[in-house]
Amino acid sequence: MSNTPITVAKGDGIGPEIMDATLHILREAGARLDIEEIEIGEKVYLAGNSAGIAQSSIESLLRTKVFLKAPITTPQGGGFKSLNVTTRKMLGLYANVRPCVAYDPYVRTKHPGMNVVIVRENEEDLYAGIEHQQTPDVTQCLKLITRSGCQRIVKYAFEYARRNNRKKVTCFTKDNIMKITDGLFHKVFDEIGALYDDIEKEHWIVDIGAAKMADTPEAFDVIVMPNLYGDILSDVAAQIAGSVGLAGSANIGAKYAMFEAIHGSAPRRAGQNLANPSGLLLGAVMMLVHINQPDIAAAVHNAWLKTIEDGVHTYDIFKEGISKEKVGTKEFAQAVASRVGQLPEKFKPVSYNAAPSQMVEDTVYAASTVKKETIGVDMFVHYAPGLTEELGQKLDALTPEGLKLVMVSNRGVKVYPGGLKDTITTDHWRCRFHSTTDGAPISHKQIIELLSRAEAAGLDFIKTENLCTFDGKPGFSLGQGQ
Ligand code: NAD
Repeated sequence: MSNTPITVAKGDGIGPEIMDATLHILREAGARLDIEEIEIGEKVYLAGNSAGIAQSSIESLLRTKVFLKAPITTPQGGGFKSLNVTTRKMLGLYANVRPCVAYDPYVRTKHPGMNVVIVRENEEDLYAGIEHQQTPDVTQCLKLITRSGCQRIVKYAFEYARRNNRKKVTCFTKDNIMKITDGLFHKVFDEIGALYDDIEKEHWIVDIGAAKMADTPEAFDVIVMPNLYGDILSDVAAQIAGSVGLAGSANIGAKYAMFEAIHGSAPRRAGQNLANPSGLLLGAVMMLVHINQPDIAAAVHNAWLKTIEDGVHTYDIFKEGISKEKVGTKEFAQAVASRVGQLPEKFKPVSYNAAPSQMVEDTVYAASTVKKETIGVDMFVHYAPGLTEELGQKLDALTPEGLKLVMVSNRGVKVYPGGLKDTITTDHWRCRFHSTTDGAPISHKQIIELLSRAEAAGLDFIKTENLCTFDGKPGFSLGQGQ
């Protein structure tokens, strides 16, 4: 069988040691790899490249499409872009997959038996990076959730569950509050989940779901969630499994994939043959499955489990009374390599299916036939706080024919007409206009007319948001109290 080309970066701090250890084990296990090595991280940043990766290295990634990456050190001070965010966006790595497993009784954990996989959406949500300061008092971050993005990640989670013989996929959202954005994620979860009869499905509101996961992780199997919740909860899950140094992670896209440990470059431990290479090694196991070498992946994983249950431990997981031998990075790698071909006796041995592809084909959004109509507009205005009545009357006076002022809200709460005196207001007002004929469409011309009248009245408008219906269903939320 031919070798698979991969790109490898040894990174900073403990990176080179744990990468050498990992590659040693992969070689001994017979992994069929052609390695292209690139330089990333601190040296590249400090040489003046603000992305931490050179163009020639990016070309290697585009060529091999598979990236095994050791942690890097991001230099202190501003101006350096996160290499992880750059790589994820550049390569379209929409899924972050993080198995969080307890290895009791050999590694201390609060949750014996924990075995949860977090599947985090990696590109959208509040991480689109679209932020504005709109008034002296008000800042805003745009939360973008797309139907096509939800379809990609949810389908990936179900396919992952099926391939890895997992029984249940849980979805976490906050759709009781964010009915449109998180509501879409939940809806797509229900739609796609319906196609997977063999897998149990459930949805939790993220706050109580997170509390349940931290308390009783055994209740979960695969959990899929939008970017922000996934960012936070994948760290919580790894930490409570008791094994931050043991967790690997995969970042998967339609064409490219990146595999790594979840921990950082631990600079204080660097160069001392102390670091635990297990996180990166388990990331590499996911890579072997991804490049369709499931036999090698299983051999490496089982040898690693046998090493852990034999009590051969690096300092970070060494426990008097349970561990048998405290070893350094190199000795640990040798211990794993010498067990290739053996199965664990206490842990359940793992096996991996031949996976034709770990990827879900790209769900590119194609223009749809949904009927969209604009039935109103929200005009956002910078105006002094507290002057609700004054602003309301100005708006009433300037409203063009054919439109009516439905309400003014401040921080989402309706304040005009008929608001409460005690509502605290800021300098950012949302003024909502509909057609005078209920539910009838309005034109762009009418919006422009509204803005020019606002301009003439000396109002500082910041932005407008069109209020649309899609196949007759409203695509906007009501103001609180509207
Ligand atoms: P860290 O994960 O590097 O270290 C946290 C603690 O865990 C330290 O006490 C360290 O000694 C220990 N530790 C981590 N990995 C270990 C291992 N394999 N074996 C034994 N002990 C281990 O987090 P940090 O100290 O906050 O960050 C250090 C640097 O790493 C920073 O520059 C940060 O930006 C970077 N970082 C990089 C990545 C990445 O490249 N993916 C991720 C996180 C942090």
